[in-house]
Amino acid sequence: MNLIRLAIIGLIVWLLYRMFYRMLNKPKPQQKVKQQAPSHNMVKCAHCGIHIPTNEALHHNGHDYCSPEHRDAGPSGPGE
Ligand SMILES: [Zn+2]
Repeated sequence: MNLIRLAIIGLIVWLLYRMFYRMLNKPKPQQKVKQQAPSHNMVKCAHCGIHIPTNEALHHNGHDYCSPEHRDAGPSGPGE
């Protein structure tokens, strides 16, 4: 009997300890959110090299282009 009571008391103490520990370790909003996160990634036109936002770029065959004309013209080749 004593052993069971001891085990139950131990369990209660352990649960209280865990609750207390959790209360002490509340997640604090300390993580600073970067406010200047880039909303647009810039990509380079494969034809003329101009930089354009990703959402405005035309993607074709793994390349990004600034305009349909340059997309049709294709990449300017290696280098510039
Ligand atoms: Zn271009």
